[in-house]
Amino acid sequence: MTSVVWFRTDLRLSDNPALAQAASSGAVVPLFVWSPEDEGEWPMGAASRWWLHHSLVSLDAELRHRGSHLVIRRGRAAQVIPGVVREVGANALIFSRRYEPTAREVEADVVAAVEQLGVHTSVHGSSLLHEPWEIATADGKPYQVFTPFWKACLAAPEPPRPTAGPTSLDAPGTWPTSLTVEDLGLLPEVDWAAGLREMWEPGEAGARKLLERFAGGPVDRYATDRNRPDIPGTSRLSPHLHFGEISTREVWHACRRSSVYASELGWREFAHHLLWHFPHTPTEPLREQFRDFPWVKDPDAFHRWTKGLTGYPFVDAGMRELWYTGWMHNRTRMVVASFLVKDLLIPWQQGARWFWDTLVDADLANNTLGWQWAAGCGADAAPYFRIFNPVMQGKKFDPKGDYVRRWVPELSAIPSSEIHEPRHSLDGMASGYPAPIVDHAAARQRALAAFEGLRRS
Ligand code: FAD
Repeated sequence: MTSVVWFRTDLRLSDNPALAQAASSGAVVPLFVWSPEDEGEWPMGAASRWWLHHSLVSLDAELRHRGSHLVIRRGRAAQVIPGVVREVGANALIFSRRYEPTAREVEADVVAAVEQLGVHTSVHGSSLLHEPWEIATADGKPYQVFTPFWKACLAAPEPPRPTAGPTSLDAPGTWPTSLTVEDLGLLPEVDWAAGLREMWEPGEAGARKLLERFAGGPVDRYATDRNRPDIPGTSRLSPHLHFGEISTREVWHACRRSSVYASELGWREFAHHLLWHFPHTPTEPLREQFRDFPWVKDPDAFHRWTKGLTGYPFVDAGMRELWYTGWMHNRTRMVVASFLVKDLLIPWQQGARWFWDTLVDADLANNTLGWQWAAGCGADAAPYFRIFNPVMQGKKFDPKGDYVRRWVPELSAIPSSEIHEPRHSLDGMASGYPAPIVDHAAARQRALAAFEGLRRS
């Protein structure tokens, strides 16, 4: 018996039910297919491609330790995979489910093409705690409010404990040919990735180190530290979870003693269930009335936001952290998103696209939920009149200004009491730092008027 295991966003050996099933039934051909043509409107962004390169290198090394290796191909999955199945004379194709609309279509095409060959396919859920169809309201509908959704998840059967990965893998009679990871050209041509290399260790081993560090102590302080971008109070597991280098179930069992942390995994769960039920939401507001919102076209303001040059220190610190590390703290994500959609009235979809390209954890479900939440047009979203004040947010969550000093060095000489205030052009202490792009109080009034107009119409 030979099985092809199609690795997708489950780039790990442990607690991987697809690999476990294949390993227990005979020879295994681990396969990864690089198919940008299959990604539809959301081709993988540059930071994620950097991550994927290193994650594949790591997965291949782990497989080699077990007497196997990763077979890498390129092209449309529905054409490539049946070809590999035929080449190795496989009896089964086994893989883990994805939840994004285009990935679901690809999956259906692959299954149809492989089953036409008379080969059995088997699909596992390995990314979530509960599958989207398992959690529903009393009348069978998807939840659109987080608290009852999470209550229903907690009342459902406990997610199974994670299982160890195989210690060895049986090789097929003949190995099919493979590209190298380098052949995929995932790394940037001009090397801008120094900050990513400094901060991250993509792959299963890197994920496990972060989990051990976090579960060994910080998780117990998470409820108080999680909103502070100036301290390492969160797990930073998001890219590892996105690429499936560690299973959510493993993180859940290691950290569930913190109910606040567990509920963050709940938001991830909620985002994926919503995307499954409402596949149009990466580009369209969940609340339809927001289609008519009078967004503004302002390429110059958008450019300044992306570069961290808005003149609001907390916002700029977040945007520069993102550019350098491929990650941004959740508190600052909320503040920079609110600033873009409410202070600048720029469409949330534009912000979502920028995040998509620059985040190493870019995730269609979580990113859509986050942006629709900020814009007030999604499930359980921030009400439109909740407009973050970027100065107050900075003072509250970065009280000494350490976060701003780290990312906005032009402001390093400014005392903590002043550091979150926007500077005006005559301010001598902050040379090179721009004057504020908008006056927050006036921008707030403009946003409230726009949202009020929408509500009336
Ligand atoms: P922790 O605080 O340690 O949380 C643990 C895990 O729970 C995270 O790794 C993540 O998988 C999940 N999680 C935490 N908060 C959320 C949340 N609000 N929504 C969904 N899942 C959550 N997260 C992404 O993974 N990818 C994205 O593309 C993304 N885009 C976002 C865009 C905006 C505008 C906003 C406001 C939030 C976005 N988030 C996104 C959610 C959140 O900011 C990150 O998951 C979190 O900052 C990752 O850091 P961490 O791993 O240290 O999180």
